[in-house]
Amino acid sequence: MIKLLLVENDQNEALRISKMLKEGLQNQFTLEQRPSVSEALDLVQRETFQAIILDLHLPEGQSFESIPQFIQYCPGAPILILSGIEDEAQAIHAVKSGAQDYLIKGQTSSSTLCRAIRYAMERHRATQRITQLAHYDHLTGLANRGLFYERLNCAVARCNRNDMAMALMFLDLDHFKAINDSLGHECGDSLLKTVATRIKKCIREIDTGVRLGGDEFAILLEQIISVEDVAAVAQRILQLLAQPIIVNHHQLQVTGSLGVTIYPWDSANPQELLSHADAAMYRAKAQGGNNYQFYTAGMKTAGLDGSTLEVELSRALAKKEFLLHYQPQMNLRTKQIIGMEALLRWHHPYQGLIGPNQFIPQAEENGMIIPIGEWVLRAASKQAKYWEKQGFPSPHVAVNLSARQIHQGNLPALIQDILKRSHLDPENLKLELTETFLIQETEETIKTLRELKAMGVHLYIDDFGAGYASLRYLKSFPIDGIKLDQSLIQQLPHSPNDAAIVQAVITLGKNLGLQVIAEGVETQEQVDFLEEHGCDAMQGYWIAPPLPANESAHHMVQTC
Ligand code: C2E
Ligand code: CA
Ligand code: CA
Repeated sequence: MIKLLLVENDQNEALRISKMLKEGLQNQFTLEQRPSVSEALDLVQRETFQAIILDLHLPEGQSFESIPQFIQYCPGAPILILSGIEDEAQAIHAVKSGAQDYLIKGQTSSSTLCRAIRYAMERHRATQRITQLAHYDHLTGLANRGLFYERLNCAVARCNRNDMAMALMFLDLDHFKAINDSLGHECGDSLLKTVATRIKKCIREIDTGVRLGGDEFAILLEQIISVEDVAAVAQRILQLLAQPIIVNHHQLQVTGSLGVTIYPWDSANPQELLSHADAAMYRAKAQGGNNYQFYTAGMKTAGLDGSTLEVELSRALAKKEFLLHYQPQMNLRTKQIIGMEALLRWHHPYQGLIGPNQFIPQAEENGMIIPIGEWVLRAASKQAKYWEKQGFPSPHVAVNLSARQIHQGNLPALIQDILKRSHLDPENLKLELTETFLIQETEETIKTLRELKAMGVHLYIDDFGAGYASLRYLKSFPIDGIKLDQSLIQQLPHSPNDAAIVQAVITLGKNLGLQVIAEGVETQEQVDFLEEHGCDAMQGYWIAPPLPANESAHHMVQTC
């Protein structure tokens, strides 16, 4: 059924057109008629049509001028002009104003009129499709970079005209590359589509959601009233984003880092909007991801923004600015120190000691984690060997591995080489794997882990219970133990929920023959609870914070 609108004040003419349509389209159309442009514009704001036939000589005049308004209110409908006179210049003017066709009354037969309508609809659809392709991202349906710049400039002009404010957000997904690399592009694409749907849910009709490329998104919020409103939208986006997503039977969770700037309050022009939103986004990443940051003056000079960070990290590696701190782990039964976890630090020339949360997420994204991770493995193994030589009992070191390191392909060979050069007993090297590994339950991952295990290296699942860790993985990965995430320990013994989970995991671990280590233990009450429930080992400020190697070694000596 073709839904048509006829704007015509001459009743006889309207009847004649209706008759011609009946002849050509039989009962495959419906026709609404309005005698004036204003009444027709009213109608198209409430109803949609598939084509509009507009008489050129209406009493109010204004037919040409009204064309853009019809297009705006009813973008899906081509406009056909009906004129009483044949005038080539006027016909060109009509088409330039956005009309699809120009028909002459009296010279138009039923079949010409109906064919013109059908062709106009067809052409209009094709044009719209081309516009769609040129302006929208084909995967997510969000505006693309080109349309984004256009909209940004228009929004700034509107703010100036109406004395209003607008916000620009940059959103970058955390660890998307790891998911894409391990689960494949198809999964990555489904994930991006879900992210786009979630963004759309959080914004209004007047706002624009944009995919800038890869896993980078932008959001333009217009007519904003307060910073609090903008913060609420940012919060909502991050919350919705963090909800689990099922892709190909994998339950995934993505989080984002979001940077916000507001025009004209903290950015003075489109260029500044872009660079400030970018700087704020990198700050959010540097805070460990899954958070939003408003732009503040000076952010750009902080020196940790993304583009320079990669360069800085390779310089840091070359200049030996990285170091390891060691945190003791204690057997809960014997109260002996059983080993140390190596935790990376960056001694930045201007910013002092920087914690791993501030640069590891970016190093994972830009690939620098591979050479940095290798350095950590070599340095920690050397240190463990040194302790072994000093005669410390069970001087094992636990090293954190990033998901990317396992996909570099040669991890077993690399570790073999490290063990050979350091002469370290493989039993004294423990590798801690985080959740990003767990979603990559691929043949390749399992094969690599088996190879490592066969060398005698011990494998642990880190941060267990922090996210979506599935019990199934405990069976499919050849692991030796699990580390209970500190978020589960914090409220012990007062949170009945956490207490129940911790108890259950300890029991489960025992039944599976796994060692259970509690992390982030800070109080005597927590130690008592863990001891009572048979947890094997613990680590946390209650014993000692991560410290330089020689200071940490004192703890080993004290318990010997
Ligand atoms: P993680 O593996 O869970 O390490 C434990 C973190 O908890 C450390 O933070 C440690 O300082 C902190 N912590 C230890 N005891 C307590 C406590 O009693 N209470 C509280 N509140 N916190 C405690 P840190 O050193 O900032 O490391 C953060 C994360 O960075 C690590 O979490 C690990 O995932 C990652 N990381 C550290 N070093 C490396 C590395 O060499 N390679 C990789 N890939 N990741 C690393
Ligand atoms: Ca760890
Ligand atoms: Ca942990």
